[in-house]
Amino acid sequence: MTGSPAATNPGTGHAGERDCPTCGQGRMQVFYRVAEVPTNSCILLETEAAAREWPKGEIALAACERCGFVANIAFDKALTEYSSRYEETQGFSPTFRKFHEQLAEELVQRHGLRGKRIVEIGCGKGEFLHLLCALGDNRGLGFDPAYVPARDQTLRGEQVEFVADYFSSRYRVEEADFVACKMTLEHILETGPFVHEIRQSVHGRDDTVVFIQVPEATRILGQCAFEDVYYEHCSYFTPASLATLMETHGFRVLRTDITYGDQYLTVEASYGGGPEPDLAARAREVGELQAMVASFPQRVADKMRRWRDDIRARAAAGQRILIWGSGSKGVAFLSSLGLDELIREAVDINPHRRGFFMPGGGQRIVSPEDLPALEPDYIVVMNAVYLDEIRAMLADKGLSPELAAL
Ligand SMILES: [Zn+2]
Repeated sequence: MTGSPAATNPGTGHAGERDCPTCGQGRMQVFYRVAEVPTNSCILLETEAAAREWPKGEIALAACERCGFVANIAFDKALTEYSSRYEETQGFSPTFRKFHEQLAEELVQRHGLRGKRIVEIGCGKGEFLHLLCALGDNRGLGFDPAYVPARDQTLRGEQVEFVADYFSSRYRVEEADFVACKMTLEHILETGPFVHEIRQSVHGRDDTVVFIQVPEATRILGQCAFEDVYYEHCSYFTPASLATLMETHGFRVLRTDITYGDQYLTVEASYGGGPEPDLAARAREVGELQAMVASFPQRVADKMRRWRDDIRARAAAGQRILIWGSGSKGVAFLSSLGLDELIREAVDINPHRRGFFMPGGGQRIVSPEDLPALEPDYIVVMNAVYLDEIRAMLADKGLSPELAAL
């Protein structure tokens, strides 16, 4: 079925509104819905049939009138799986590795992380924690239910330890000098209780720095980046809503940054210290966000129509069309457009994903080495940050398909 777009206008279903878990005071109203999206996008599925049968859920994006927090209020965490079958690392990309290394170096430098104790909540495969510990001879403790011990790297067990579970203050973490939480908070709908747990982990110390990194939602809403709206990401932050969340739990934001082609929002905060927030500037930011939310349904519908027209016309002309990026953005792109039958392969640089199938449409995941045999005419790149790297890889294989990037 290629015709029916999955994205629809907001309805007035029972999940049309709720109280905001981030500021605890505003009301959230639904402004955008996508039906039938796979509930996991990074999961490794061994057959096309299993991939097509993967459970589906609903996205109902709502925005808080008060703090600008955006969330999928139809999110049901029982439907998502984070396990060793969850393969999300971007560490095979040289572009991403360079960004990661630079970020770790900056944090070690800025916060004097040498001979310190570091906790990472949601550490994935542990790459970033290893970097932070190696750079400053720090000790590390990482939490992640999808942690895979077998892929351990440079440092010895006693210097960096991992717990393959969700972080919780019941683990009685000893005092940390630095707490990192990268690309994790967006997977949690009950944001308030989660930050409360983080606060427990700093034991009331006001010199412990908490570093948070999440996708930046102003870009997603402003550019209608519908590929960045997927089931695992239930929570979407702007600088204003992330600062509000931290302050609600007694933190003060020391530094805010937007990086990686405007895709990542980071804050560094500490408990009790830091400057007074500029509430007038924050109110303006929330007002601008509300305007973007109001126009989003129309703008995103227009953008999706342009992509559908482009891909259908090329498929009708006999072109072989692939996407580059088989993870979350790829699943969101394909499931939002409903063009599964026209695109049957997705390229991925992560060799651990090769040969598996994408949840939802069941596209086969191929490696760059497979491309000469596939002879693609057109590749839609899911993240423009990787365009140069991809172009170089294609040229190296003597291929020159037309490229488009989201
Ligand atoms: Zn709110």
